Amino acid sequence: MTVQKSRLDFPWKAPPAAGEVTEVTKGLLWARLPLPFRLDHVNVWFLEEDDGWTVIDTGCATPEILTVWERLLAGPMRSKPVRRVVATHGHVDHIGLTGWLVQRFNADFIGTFAEWVWARLSHMHDVPGSSATHHSYLVRHGFDDEDAGRLVQSRRRFIDLSSQIPGWITEIRSGDAVRLGGREWRVIVTRGHAFEHASFFNEESGILIAGDHILPRISPVIAVYEMMPKADPLGDYLDSFPQFDGIPADTLILPSHGLPYRGIHQRIAELRDHHRLRLDATASFLSNPSTALELSREMFPHIEGPDNIGFALGETLAHVNYLVARNIVEERLDDQGRTIFALRR
Ligand SMILES: [Zn+2]
Repeated sequence: MTVQKSRLDFPWKAPPAAGEVTEVTKGLLWARLPLPFRLDHVNVWFLEEDDGWTVIDTGCATPEILTVWERLLAGPMRSKPVRRVVATHGHVDHIGLTGWLVQRFNADFIGTFAEWVWARLSHMHDVPGSSATHHSYLVRHGFDDEDAGRLVQSRRRFIDLSSQIPGWITEIRSGDAVRLGGREWRVIVTRGHAFEHASFFNEESGILIAGDHILPRISPVIAVYEMMPKADPLGDYLDSFPQFDGIPADTLILPSHGLPYRGIHQRIAELRDHHRLRLDATASFLSNPSTALELSREMFPHIEGPDNIGFALGETLAHVNYLVARNIVEERLDDQGRTIFALRR
């Protein structure tokens, strides 16, 4: 996650206060929830139905967020029931309270299959082999045993930020048309930030609910994770952009973090440039052969704390794997079994 300057058009200068909403357009409300992370908020969207609400994304399970939810339900949502909960993807700040809402209102849960399965697995304690896989992945990339143990432990805390992920799902796929809040939305499924991230485009109102895929100020986390260590999420991410070619330039983009904006194509160009620069930096650092951990300390010199170094490692490996897949970087094992990456000569 890197903060960037940009010249996009932001129709609202500030977000709604906690427990309040901003009407984006008739029947579509924007609320903001506080997050317990460095990224301190997430936007969620309410679409008014004849018989209640459709909610898109939910925040995670903290006492602060639950308090805000109660105020939203009793206030702007006028105590009408939540009929449908939609998850743009399975990260805990998006899907974390889905189970709570689905249970409370006996609501339908809508999402993509991969994100649902990923969330079920990732937000469950004691999945056999998970911790061991994570630990050996960290050691292979340069962590000592103790630091690897600390990081594995620290990530387990995220599990408790989720209510139980629903046991069943109404699946959506790319290209589907779904009717939410009296409008028809085209589902755009992309890889890169997540395995099957869903965005929703409504042509008549000129609105794209974009989740985390195309954020206005920060570049979304594009990271390699231990369950798929050879993946090329950056290649997937860059390859996803043509899926937005047909979106009109004046479309209002509703992102999960930051403010709604116009200027999707400019933003995509900025994100492309950002990753191109990071790829160049990665390649040039790798003229000195190094582990992914050493490289992530070069790429993210100011980062501290186990969670953040974990994210830095994932993002660094996304850039490394992109270069490995294109034969620009090669990998070998050293005599301690660690993976060493180096620029091909
Ligand atoms: Zn996310």
